[in-house]
Amino acid sequence: MADLTLDEARKEVASLRDKLDQWADAYYSKDAPEVEDNVYDQNYQRLVELEQQFPQLVTQDSITQRVGGQLDSELTKVTHQVPMLSMGDVFSKEELRAFDERVQKQIGHEVAYNVELKIDGLSINLEYTDGKLTRASTRGNGLVGEDVTPNARFISDIPQTLPEKLTMEVRGECYMGKEAFAKLNSERDEKGETVFANPRNAAAGSLRQLDASITKHRNLSTFIYTWVNPPEEIKSQHQAIEKMTSLGFHTNQTGKRLAKMDEIFAFIDEYTAKRDSLQYGIDGIVLKVDDLNLQNELGNTVKIPRWEIAYKFPPEEQATVVHEIKWTV
Ligand code: NAD
Repeated sequence: MADLTLDEARKEVASLRDKLDQWADAYYSKDAPEVEDNVYDQNYQRLVELEQQFPQLVTQDSITQRVGGQLDSELTKVTHQVPMLSMGDVFSKEELRAFDERVQKQIGHEVAYNVELKIDGLSINLEYTDGKLTRASTRGNGLVGEDVTPNARFISDIPQTLPEKLTMEVRGECYMGKEAFAKLNSERDEKGETVFANPRNAAAGSLRQLDASITKHRNLSTFIYTWVNPPEEIKSQHQAIEKMTSLGFHTNQTGKRLAKMDEIFAFIDEYTAKRDSLQYGIDGIVLKVDDLNLQNELGNTVKIPRWEIAYKFPPEEQATVVHEIKWTV
């Protein structure tokens, strides 16, 4: 790359953006990916490298500068009070260590992370008023999402009423368990219908339905992991999860508060080995600075929080999951 001229880089950047925009549209809007995630990720990384090398080629509309989803469904649009961002990702333990070093350098001391599984679904935002579910929405383009409230009423693990009359907003992942996915695809196959490429697309295609009765029969689940603007007494991500669990949200109980990189690597190894035996798909591990004040201190870029990072599982493992599935979309 060092030998590329500006003109050559400009051409490559344009071609990468065209490809990535097309793939992102197929993935986010049509819920029907045209390529496997690792192909998308490699092209995305190449674009990031070129934009770092040639900063004059960075434009606001580049996929590296905005959250990927688009809004062309007929669902009602919802403006998010707090943007729903994407997440930075790394593909090796060395890069994860470098992330930790950057965080420590900015904060000035060692920090603890809440280490969580990265659930392979789509983000969902839930708003409660006086303890009642009033609105559910998708991430969309991060600033504006789609209203899926009627659909969320058919997801059995989403509390419709909370035990306390709280006005609150939470976020999490809406996903389809592996069993529900296999059943849905076999039913569709029998009827001669197109099968879904993977559980993530099945979840997105099932939640983003104008006719909520379709969602009702799709057996979706959630893991809630974010409390947007929690009250003062909640000081950390792990406390937020504990409190959300006690309020009846379905949370993932595998998360651990860890500070040492060796412990974090052991967690990664453990779930790399266990991932196929889980009842839901995961595509990596997420590290979140546990202390909410430190999260605020680190802040966000236009696209990603600086206090969290996803370690993505190696592509060959991801590929085995996709290849097991009949690829007809
Ligand atoms: P992302 O999916 O890599 O990461 C951000 C998302 O992770 C969040 O929005 C949230 O929904 C989810 N998440 C899961 N578990 C979480 C947890 N415990 N805590 C917080 N968030 C959690 O980022 P993205 O911007 O949504 O998508 C980019 C990725 O999507 C790419 O890396 C690629 O793998 C895939 N993609 C694939 C194609 C394709 O054609 N195959 C196209 C576009 C995007």
